[in-house]
Amino acid sequence: MKHVIILGGGLAGLAAADKLLDAGFKVTILEKAPFTGGLASSFKQDNEWIPKYYHHVVSHNTTTQSYLNRYNAMGNNVWKKIRVAIGVNGKLSHINEISGLLTFNYLTLWEKIRLGIFGVYTIFLMKPEKIKDEENAEDWLNKFAGKGVAQKIFYNLYGRNKFNKPLSVVSAKQFAFRLKEKEVYDNFTFPQHSIQPMIDGLEEDILKKNGIIMTKTNITCINHQKKKVKTDGKTYTYDILLSTIPFPEFLKITTGLTEELKHKLEKIKYCPCVGLVFATKEFLYPETYWINLFQERVHVIMQHSVLIDKYKNKITWCIRYGGSEEDLGLSDEQIKKEYLTSIKKYLPSLNPVWVKVFREKYAEPVYDKDYSSYMPEVRSGVEGLYFAGIQITFPKIRNINTALESGIKAADNIIKDTCAQP
Ligand SMILES: Cc1cc2nc3c(=O)[nH]c(=O)nc-3n(C[C@H](O)[C@H](O)[C@H](O)COP(=O)(O)OP(=O)(O)OC[C@H]3O[C@@H](n4cnc5c(N)ncnc54)[C@H](O)[C@@H]3O)c2cc1C
Repeated sequence: MKHVIILGGGLAGLAAADKLLDAGFKVTILEKAPFTGGLASSFKQDNEWIPKYYHHVVSHNTTTQSYLNRYNAMGNNVWKKIRVAIGVNGKLSHINEISGLLTFNYLTLWEKIRLGIFGVYTIFLMKPEKIKDEENAEDWLNKFAGKGVAQKIFYNLYGRNKFNKPLSVVSAKQFAFRLKEKEVYDNFTFPQHSIQPMIDGLEEDILKKNGIIMTKTNITCINHQKKKVKTDGKTYTYDILLSTIPFPEFLKITTGLTEELKHKLEKIKYCPCVGLVFATKEFLYPETYWINLFQERVHVIMQHSVLIDKYKNKITWCIRYGGSEEDLGLSDEQIKKEYLTSIKKYLPSLNPVWVKVFREKYAEPVYDKDYSSYMPEVRSGVEGLYFAGIQITFPKIRNINTALESGIKAADNIIKDTCAQP
């Protein structure tokens, strides 16, 4: 029986383990954190599971839904069209509605028309797969949305807020795929029983099938030539290594890679995120789920309870992505003070009942225009080494769906390659 060691117990690692165990492999997951679920993990508050980050599900996330249904997490969930607002210069506007767009004075009349036409183009005509891998978002947006809209809207949304990079280095193809997901036009939901039953259920299934999950594991060294992983307390041997952890972490601990692969992996950079989740007695801005703030310390506000109003209080996140590396080292109290001050400019009634702070050093790969030229494949090119997780799913957007599918794909490749061996 071949032994697969999976690095990381996020959704990609859990989905891969579940599939590999069904195919008769011996599987060990090594996870650094005290729990599985990675970026999609939750915390318990007032007897309810709340994800550390917003984690909505949209109607075409079919893989996510099939896993949530497998563990009865969806319950009587409700699908909703969402309202989106942009906050700029202290004012919020619903720009995906005609009346909101018309009164959005941050854009000139011509720019509003261009933005409206661009919205229609992205829904009905745009073909992201036809965009060249190396095309940059600035040239592409200037052409299709006009310079004013590109700079005022999309630079703020995707250049500064998302990656803290100029649009000229951001991938047009990945951005177009993101637009094609029609995120703001789709139906949104959040599972009635949260996403935690899916994580707990996968974990239970893995253990039932005799898989091993080691949490709180500090991997000190991986020697891929000898196929050995050393942790603080134990040495594991393996036949196959599947890594789902961020590449900077993988490179720190792994020897025995080819120079070519090392060189590729070193190019992959990540964007961090720092966020607050807080509870208030009332909604801060009625009926609006998603608020993007421009030129502020905080970039996005998600009023979770608009999707699912089942908690003791109303739950909201606010997150800073691009540039948040400067906040990673701040104390929780400093972050609370800075972020709450930033959002009070737009939501002055904010008076939270409780607030929690979360930080991620590796929230999302920076999808620059050259990403596809150095992104590794599931099969790494080094015998016995495979990859999965959101760092290898370009140009798809990073979400639960792509993470699960990537874990399944890695398992399928491992099964196929092992069966093909004499
Ligand atoms: C702010 C935010 C909002 C999001 N919102 C949504 C949303 O609305 N909808 C949606 O579908 N998706 C959303 N996502 C995306 C979703 O969470 C991810 O795509 C998915 O969870 C990624 O899974 P993964 O297994 O690829 O990676 P991860 O979850 O990052 O898993 C990697 C695992 O490896 C572990 N690890 C790291 N280093 C080591 C090491 N040295 N040794 C051992 N283990 C290690 C980590 O602890 C982690 O558990 C959001 C993510 C963020 C950050």
